[in-house]
Amino acid sequence: MRDDTPNSWESRADSYSLYGFTDLPSIHERGAVIVTHGKGPYVYDVHGRSYLDGNSGLWNMVAGFDHPGLAEAAKAQYDRFPGYHAFFGRMSDQTVMLSEKLVEVSPFDRGRVFYTNSGSEANDTMVKMLWFLAGAEGHPQRRKIITRINSYHGVTAVSASMTGKPYNSVFGLPLPGFIHVGCPHYWRFGKDGESEAQFTERMARELEATIITEGPDTIAGFFAEPVMGAGGVIPPSAGYFQAVQKVLKKYGIPLIADEVICGFGRTGNTWGCQTYDFVPDAIISSKNITAGYFPMGAVILGPDLADRLQDASEAIEEFPHGFTASGHPVGCAVALKAIDVVMNEGLAENVRTLTPHFEAGLARLAENPNIGEWRGKGLMGALEAVKDKATKTPFDGKLSVSERIANTCTDHGLICRPLGQAIVLCPPFICTKDHLDEMFDKLEKALKKVFAEVA
Ligand code: PMP
Repeated sequence: MRDDTPNSWESRADSYSLYGFTDLPSIHERGAVIVTHGKGPYVYDVHGRSYLDGNSGLWNMVAGFDHPGLAEAAKAQYDRFPGYHAFFGRMSDQTVMLSEKLVEVSPFDRGRVFYTNSGSEANDTMVKMLWFLAGAEGHPQRRKIITRINSYHGVTAVSASMTGKPYNSVFGLPLPGFIHVGCPHYWRFGKDGESEAQFTERMARELEATIITEGPDTIAGFFAEPVMGAGGVIPPSAGYFQAVQKVLKKYGIPLIADEVICGFGRTGNTWGCQTYDFVPDAIISSKNITAGYFPMGAVILGPDLADRLQDASEAIEEFPHGFTASGHPVGCAVALKAIDVVMNEGLAENVRTLTPHFEAGLARLAENPNIGEWRGKGLMGALEAVKDKATKTPFDGKLSVSERIANTCTDHGLICRPLGQAIVLCPPFICTKDHLDEMFDKLEKALKKVFAEVA
């Protein structure tokens, strides 16, 4: 696929740009996909090839790549007032309106919103809020953060420390005080003879044991994605959040839902916490908040944390934190439009309508003897490749099976993502059943080809 002629897009990309999370030897061989534009759920590269984007960009382009209303909302706001901040008691009218809207659609009856440019910064901001409260409320030792193995919370020094992935060790992370407890993936981590209910109880017991060992009064908060995304789309075991929240409440530890992927419809409800029937103390939002049309993140505090942050800020005079583009008026105008589009133009409804078809497609592909399980919620799903289905034995990592499947899909005009040994699908909400069928047909061919090669 690589065009090696001098001045090709691939060579120019390699010469001047740096890639994130990219296997460089493989990309040097294959060439980068340089995208110029999109239409519905498809993106087009510089060679005119089209790709059905089965990952909605990075989980976020839920309204597709050419939604006219979102571009118009941005243009109208650029024309009206192109930029402002939210410092020193000033903020744009759009920011005021978006905060009202976010609290209105949140699971909270009251709340307050703080804006960032990304999900990573929103998690960092939440951690700083918890540290700020710890100091202001006379518990300066209350600084430790608990997250889960396999979780993904971002890439800044704090959010990467929260992330429960081994690759962060190349940065010497996590920082001290970031603790990772068990991942609630019953299929992979359930013990022989252990029921799902017993597994959930064990997860909660292990969390409590960690809290006691670390010292309950040293823990500032527990963060969790309702469905783990970049960990490989891992829905929690049944009853997980109820069991965990009971433990956290016992020790007065806030539960923060990282809804960066799940928020705004992905799991079939506005929030993943609604899908799993719990109310967290705060929500971290990003990605779908603007349907990917503007970089934005938000911390939405529920009533208790909002009141405490207000009191602490008044006592200390200010909360000394914020980004130049926090609450950017164009971002806020786009977010207001995106929320309207997702919630009122039938996109969230389409997720619910398409889910049975999506699940049936995953289940059909999981009949392959080298797929150990399919899993998912709403329009996010994964197929786990295994060498041996009965024993759940993974393939030798050196075979790069999931990467080869994803590369084969790319060659046939489908973008999907390898995560560990899973192939992850997270299509835009505007997809039709035909789009899903195209996605599954292409993936099925790639699975057959690669499994035949490695058998
Ligand atoms: N939290 C979750 C659950 C995420 O999936 C991500 C990004 N994939 C982040 C945080 C970080 O967001 P960003 O890349 O915007 O910093």
